[in-house]
Amino acid sequence: MSSPGLAVALLISPLRLLERNPPVSQTISFSDQVNRNVDRAAKHLDLPPGMLDQIKACNTLCEFNFPLVRDDGSIEVIRAWRAEHSHHKLPTKGGIRYAANVDADEVMALASLMTYKCALVDVPFGGGKGGIKIAKWQYSDAELERITRHYTYQLYSRNMIGPGTDVPAPDYGTGPREMGWIVDTCRALMPDRLNAAACVTGKPINHGGVRGRSGATGRGVFFGTREACDQADEMKRLGLSTGIEGKTVVIQGLGNVGLSAARFFEQGGARIIGVAEYEGSIHSPKGIDIERLMVHRQETESIVGFPGAEALPDRASALELECDILIPAALENQITAENVDRIRAKIVAEAANGPVTSEASESLHRRGVMVLPDAFINAGGVTVSYFEWLKNLSHVRFGRLDKRFEQATFSGILKEIEELTGKTIADDAFARMSHGADEADLVDSGLEETMINAYHEILKIQRQRDSAMDLRTASFICAIEKIAKVYLELGIFP
Ligand code: NAD
Repeated sequence: MSSPGLAVALLISPLRLLERNPPVSQTISFSDQVNRNVDRAAKHLDLPPGMLDQIKACNTLCEFNFPLVRDDGSIEVIRAWRAEHSHHKLPTKGGIRYAANVDADEVMALASLMTYKCALVDVPFGGGKGGIKIAKWQYSDAELERITRHYTYQLYSRNMIGPGTDVPAPDYGTGPREMGWIVDTCRALMPDRLNAAACVTGKPINHGGVRGRSGATGRGVFFGTREACDQADEMKRLGLSTGIEGKTVVIQGLGNVGLSAARFFEQGGARIIGVAEYEGSIHSPKGIDIERLMVHRQETESIVGFPGAEALPDRASALELECDILIPAALENQITAENVDRIRAKIVAEAANGPVTSEASESLHRRGVMVLPDAFINAGGVTVSYFEWLKNLSHVRFGRLDKRFEQATFSGILKEIEELTGKTIADDAFARMSHGADEADLVDSGLEETMINAYHEILKIQRQRDSAMDLRTASFICAIEKIAKVYLELGIFP
């Protein structure tokens, strides 16, 4: 690994603190889409004057440019952003996106979604988001490492990264490897800081990561959708049976979120009948084996041509397949006014951030389609990031203190039962029942608890206020009420 100290010393670049107003655009911007949803929810609330404006405003947006020395010795200027949407709770928290199209508005919109998401699932953070404007595939691994370390330094030099200030995580185009580079750079920059590991989440386990983080968003999508599918009245309205078993699923995007979601739905007994990726989309009514598809993609560099699956005309076509559950897990603006009338799913689970525009979402709701909104359904990632942050601050692995104690207690109870009944419990059943919870079990349990509780909070709001209300509006009501409560307690607003 290159030395961050040497690299970053040369790279202090001009900072531009931008105005809070999002850029004016011909079409409705991503930020405006989010704010439209917020406004719709706020109509149901009685907020003090000025509070809604503060809740919606992006508190800080920082744009910076820094030079990258490419492998051939040439210099390229890299453009990047970090937005801290709300400081009503600290630290701010949100992923870093590497994408060719990312811009200031997108980063602000995503940061605001993080604020609402964290409030909704009771994760005590404000919302943040970062973006680096690069097409990742155009850079070597060494160049990506330099970009990541430079970006970290840019954040550090502006006090925009740290366990109590702002804590990044993975997002589109980034994963544990990039988070490992970030924590390594932070440790180099703050060697005496006891809690340096807590300045970023989504790290590899050996760098302070937590078991279960890499699949957490997809796992959360599964838990949240399963809970919705367990409501008999809701399923009856949609003409579906309860449970995940036997449901047909279409997934767009087989990255971190989409692939793990696909695996959990498959394990839960669902049939994946359609998949869309960057290079095209495929359909098989009999079901697509996800592990075999991934092997095929690795060998041929495409999902198209997977044996037994029909290739569809283009990558967007899979979205229009008839199915029970559609999971857009790639990017925003995938279901819009243009294609919404052709969507034939009964449930849309927004695994990505903003995949359904507010206009398209209203249209789906009018047609009776259940939309499980992004602020709720993809909150598993930040939930487990919260657990990772807690682990880093406590400096102890979950389960380390109590696992053996639990195991001994459960074994004792089982042995007592054997003695009292005179029967012997089979070895595998004994081992299963006496198992003490380890880190992976505890993280999974905390994630399941969070997603189930959040779903019922949203459902309660919908049922109490207006049974015709969409779940997105109910989620925003839930989130805004919690944020407003913090501001009221601070005494800023009358
Ligand atoms: P990723 O980069 O790991 O995967 C995205 C996948 O989508 C890639 O495989 C890419 O090839 C594919 N893709 C891109 N454009 C596509 C298109 N037009 N059609 C089909 N496939 C396309 O990213 P990710 O981390 O899985 O994030 C995906 C979405 O989920 C983003 O909106 C992100 O903000 C959101 N999200 C991610 C996390 C997380 O923990 N990573 C948490 C919450 C929300």
